[in-house]
Amino acid sequence: MPMHWIVAFMMKAPVNNIIDFSNVDGPGNRCAIFFQSCPFSCLYCHNPETIRMCVHCGKCVATCPTQALRMEAGKVVFEASRCVKCDTCIRVCEHQASPRIQMMSVADLCEHISKLKPFIRGITVSGGECMNQAAFLLDLFQEVKKMGLTCLIDSNGAHDFSKYPQLLALCDGVMLDVKAVDPHFHQKLCGADNAMVLRNLDYLLKNGKLQEVRTVLLPNEKEQNRKTVSYVSARIKDRSQYKLIRYRPYGVREAGVKAFGNQTLAMEEVAELVEICEKNQNHLCRIA
Ligand code: SF4
Ligand code: SF4
Repeated sequence: MPMHWIVAFMMKAPVNNIIDFSNVDGPGNRCAIFFQSCPFSCLYCHNPETIRMCVHCGKCVATCPTQALRMEAGKVVFEASRCVKCDTCIRVCEHQASPRIQMMSVADLCEHISKLKPFIRGITVSGGECMNQAAFLLDLFQEVKKMGLTCLIDSNGAHDFSKYPQLLALCDGVMLDVKAVDPHFHQKLCGADNAMVLRNLDYLLKNGKLQEVRTVLLPNEKEQNRKTVSYVSARIKDRSQYKLIRYRPYGVREAGVKAFGNQTLAMEEVAELVEICEKNQNHLCRIA
């Protein structure tokens, strides 16, 4: 193992999942790394088990059909080789957590990424909220750049990007979620304020680091959809891609389904929002 990887051994971060080859997490074929924990708790989150860290209550241990989980000195221990990914443990957890977290060092991740290197354009760090691990990402990006790969950040914008100039200098672009522009609605939707998200939108744009912006379009929230799409598309114009993602109920928590229902948004409503983008000359608007 190279010496500089050994130096990077000390710091570890909680990794929820790694997708070796993804074509939906930025341009080209990318390795997507999902870190655990998030400062938001969005009602429509598709991976609510990534929101909190495990509190080691032990409730999930006995439910595992393959004994991949056990308690040791008051902590849940996960044995990855036994896991059949049935998700039973995630379903029983009441803490929006997962027992299947692996604490990984930069060296561990680099070893993994180096095996994929001939087949990928780069890595994308996601979550949860990957910026919860900003110091770790700086070390990781330094090493991944040495491999000649690109590094993208997928973020909800909760952390102040202006405080991480070194990380941004290494980063090839940020894919930013702007979930709602109305602060009260954002609070209701995500359990947190959106002032930092909007500041980050302007900061990343000004510094040429905005890869794309994403907004989830919600059923029965016509006015909120319109407000957010108008605000974002007027700012980013032709300079960054704007991805409009239709709400989908699959994997969403009960509270989310209760709030937004079992249907996705009708295409007629999407067409009105695309029209707003076109009026704002945001020709890089895409529907997902
Ligand atoms: S997902 Fe893995 S750890 Fe969780 S219950 Fe299923 S086999 Fe056990
Ligand atoms: S994953 Fe959830 S249920 Fe399992 S020990 Fe951690 S907090 Fe408890």
